Amino acid sequence: MKITEPPICSHCSELMKKMEMPNEAAYDSPFMYVCFNDDCPYYVKGWEWMLEKYNVKTSYRHRINPSTGFESPLPVWSKDAMRDRIIK
Ligand SMILES: [Zn+2]
Repeated sequence: MKITEPPICSHCSELMKKMEMPNEAAYDSPFMYVCFNDDCPYYVKGWEWMLEKYNVKTSYRHRINPSTGFESPLPVWSKDAMRDRIIK
């Protein structure tokens, strides 16, 4: 399923943002849709879960591949991680 409009995050209902991918060759799309809402439950719970399970300070944001509609977590190590890749 190809996605052409920014989707709504299924976890927090915020509009997801376009994010440029570091290495285009590795993906079938030059960008991904990512939820950058810091109050998103998926992201908020990620910190607790990763700390509890793996004792690491990291989390992940909800990501959708626009060419396939495939949803996967985008690992982030800080609140500002990946934000410089947002395409306006
Ligand atoms: Zn969200």
